[in-house]
Order: sequence, then C-alpha cells, then structure tokens
Amino acid sequence: GNWVEADLDELDVTEETADSTPLPVVAIVGRPNVGKSTLVNRIIGRREAVVEDVPGVTRDRVTYEANWRGRRFTVVDTGGWDPDATGMNLRIAEQAQIAAELADVIVFVVDATVGATDADEIVGSILRQSGKPVILTANKVDNQQIEMEAAALWSLGLGEPHAVSALHGRSSGDLLDVVLEALPETPAVTFGDKRGPARVALLGKPNVGKSSLLNKLAGQERVLVDPMAGTTRDPVDELIELGDKTWRFVDTAGIRRRDRELQGADFYAAMRTRAALDRSEVAIVLIDASEPLTEQDLRIISLVIESGRAMVVAFNKWDLVDEDRRYYLEREIDRQLVRTPWALRVNISALTGRHMDRLVPALEKALDSWSTRVPTSRLNAFLTDLVHATPPPVRSGKQPKILFATQASTEPPKFVLFTSGWLEDTYRRFIERRIREEFGFAGSPIEVTMKIRE
Ligand code: GDP
Ligand code: GDP
Repeated sequence: GNWVEADLDELDVTEETADSTPLPVVAIVGRPNVGKSTLVNRIIGRREAVVEDVPGVTRDRVTYEANWRGRRFTVVDTGGWDPDATGMNLRIAEQAQIAAELADVIVFVVDATVGATDADEIVGSILRQSGKPVILTANKVDNQQIEMEAAALWSLGLGEPHAVSALHGRSSGDLLDVVLEALPETPAVTFGDKRGPARVALLGKPNVGKSSLLNKLAGQERVLVDPMAGTTRDPVDELIELGDKTWRFVDTAGIRRRDRELQGADFYAAMRTRAALDRSEVAIVLIDASEPLTEQDLRIISLVIESGRAMVVAFNKWDLVDEDRRYYLEREIDRQLVRTPWALRVNISALTGRHMDRLVPALEKALDSWSTRVPTSRLNAFLTDLVHATPPPVRSGKQPKILFATQASTEPPKFVLFTSGWLEDTYRRFIERRIREEFGFAGSPIEVTMKIRE
C-alpha cells in the first residue's frame, strides 16, 4: 500500500494578497462531520489562515487563501453548522447551490466509512447540474480496507472518488494536484456580473421588418460595426445604444445582407436562427401583425423555446392594423401563443416608431427574469404551503411527497423537485404555473423537473 503523507512544506498560506486580482475559488462542500474542516486545515497547512467572513451570503462561510506548488487560490469552507439543526437537507442543498455559483472548482467531501447518504445524493445531483468541475473526495480512508468503501462512491455519478484521509494527510497532496489541474486560468465571473453588452438575436421570417427595425433602433450614426475575429464576411454584430445601455445585436449582417436565397431556404434559415440564438441571451421574434401568423413564425418561436433563451415577441406593422380589428387580433394572438404565455409582447411599428420605447424595457425585464434566482428557503416555504393547500394526486394508493426543491440553475431558471414518488404531469405544470405567479419570470422560460427517490 501507498501510505504517503502530504508534504506540508509545499503548502503555504499567503498572509496578505499583494494585488487585487481575483483568485480562483475552491469550495469545500459536504454533510456535517464528513471532515470538511479537517480537510481545509490540511489544505491551508494547519496554520491559522487569514480568515475573513464573506458578507451577505452565509454566516458560516469562511474563506482562506492557499498556495499549492506556487499556485494561489481561495478556499471556501462551507461547513460549520449544527448537524441537529432542522431542515438540514435544505441547508445542504443551499450550500451546494451557493458553492456551485461561486466556485471555480468544487471539492465534494463524502465520508467513505459511511457511504453515500440521501443528502450526498442530493448534493451530488445539484453539483452535477452546475457544470463546474467537481472533485469527489472520499474522506476518512485511513487505511487500505476502507479504500474499497471509497470505490463504492462511483455510484454518485461524479467520476472517480479520490480517497484521502484528511486527518492523517494520506493522499491529500494528490488531491491538491487534481484540484490544481481543474483550476481555470482566470476565475469565473462572479454571479450577476455580466461580461459586455447584453446579446440580442433579432429573428423573424423574411419581410417582417427586421432591417427596418434595426435601422430605426440604430439611427443614423450610432452604429458600430464589430467584425468577429477570424471572419472577414460574416457574422457581424452591431453594437447599438438604447436607453443608457449598449446592446449587441448578433448576426445583423445576415439581416442586412438581404440574403433572400438563404433566408428562403428553411434549412439554412433554421441553422442561422440557431446560431444566432447560441450567441445570444434574449431573442426578439418579429411577427407581421398585418398578416395571419404562419407556420414559419411558430417554427421560429419553437427554436427560441428549444434554446432556453429569454424572449420578447414583437408584433410589427401595427400601423397597418385597423383600430377596430386590434382587439380581435390581440385575442387571436393570445390563442396562437398559448404555448408561450410567458413571452413578453409588444406591438410596434418600425415604420412610424410606434411603441419603440417599450421594446427596451421588455428586453430588460426578460433578461432580468432569465437570471433570477429564488432562494431555496423561499422556494421551499412556498412549496410547503402550496402542497399543503393542494396535495399531489394519489397514485396507486400512495401519496407522493415533495421532500424539498431547489433552483438548480439560472439562464434559464431550472427547478428540481426531490420527491418520494411520481408527480403527474398536470401537477408538475400546476407547480410551474404557481411558481411563475409567485416569483415572476415574465419573458423567460422556466423548467421544473423531478428527481424521485428510489
Ligand atoms: P465537518 O463537519 O465536515 O467540517 O467535519 P470535521 O472536519 O469537523 O470532522 C468531523 C470528525 O471527523 C472529526 O472528529 C474529525 O477528527 C474526523 N475526521 C476528519 N477527517 C478524518 C479522517 O480522515 N479520518 C478519520 N478517521 N476521522 C476524520
Ligand atoms: P426583413 O426582411 O425582415 O428585414 O424586412 P424589411 O425591414 O426589409 O421590411 C419588409 C417590408 O416591410 C419593407 O417594405 C418595409 O418598409 C416594410 N415595413 C417594415 N416595418 C414596417 C412597419 O412597421 N409598418 C409598415 N407599414 N411597413 C413596414
């Protein structure tokens, strides 16, 4: 067996941060008593570290600066609450979620002598969805016998369990090497900190008025053409100032070039639309209000839904709609958009400029909804009341329970319900509807999925 202790001399706690460059963040996540604090001490070399409270998020969390093989990073210890506290699953889920948001790398600690518990499974599935690198750590592997128990943790679906003994230092150097490998060159942008202007895809079938709208929005001089690196022809975006913000309209070259041939061909049009959506955060789907809604309009809307982007549906050429027809047209539109009642709608005229001032607030609202996060505690309090008032229908004699819920991601918002049994689709849709009513989300798709405990 290999009984190497970590060489603690290689570990160094930096007393003071010389410059203010943000360091990559490593979060330590796990149930109480799995050995998180012990591991953190091991990582920072047992010496009392520069300890600072991170204000505003969790009282319990402390950050330390560490240095391994010359690479500096911040360690966030997410542990430290009373294991007997009520709502522990909730706290753990919340902790995992915060870690997933904030960290560049997550070290998920499981007690190998205990094995994967329900709470571990919950944390595991939240972390899996985070898209962040997760290093599964099997702690308390003090000797070779327990190594077998560590291997059982493959079942968590988080890849190889790294067996360590935080207490004795066994393999903790190897673990740090793995952490180092996973660290990004530059730290992830902190949550809510948007890089550059918001990106908009302006979509719609030919002749709905895309170029006209673009011209109207861009005005005469305020257009900056921004060729993408490495391409001479297309796509080209335009940076347009609207209100007090700059917006990036993606692939406007495709709109301006009047490439009727390509636009006419469904296949290429769909490809182009997909590509624009990939590069954007919010879509404006332009529809010609003076004509009946077509299959092609609905297909474009479907592509936006598929993409998970925020959406504003703009009915253009409203100037061509007779006063007395407007009311009926609105009702007709309601019926047509029954699949996307959440989409924000504006009735505009690119020709006359009618209601152009409503477009930007709609875009802003949609983007805001798209990045909204409902705190886990609020979500669970809300669901507890909801389920109490309207319990899920009984299935084969059993009443499925919602054990708890969490918002697994934003952009778009995705919710996961951890349940003790299958929830009928109608009930899940009911919950989705009520979540929208309670928390907003206008202009953004949301997703509600279930994880059933076997
Ligand atoms: P936390 O609540 O996750 O921060 O866990 P602690 O670091 O406070 O550890 C909980 C208990 O497990 C303590 O009694 C530790 O001494 C013990 N412990 C931590 N790591 C190991 C280990 O590698 N092996 C053994 N046998 N015990 C450990
Ligand atoms: P695109 O193919 O989607 O880029 O559409 P265009 O911007 O080229 O517009 C197609 C036609 O619709 C042109 O003749 C425009 O003048 C006209 N058009 C665009 N917006 C409006 C509008 O709001 N009202 C009216 N009446 N015509 C419009």
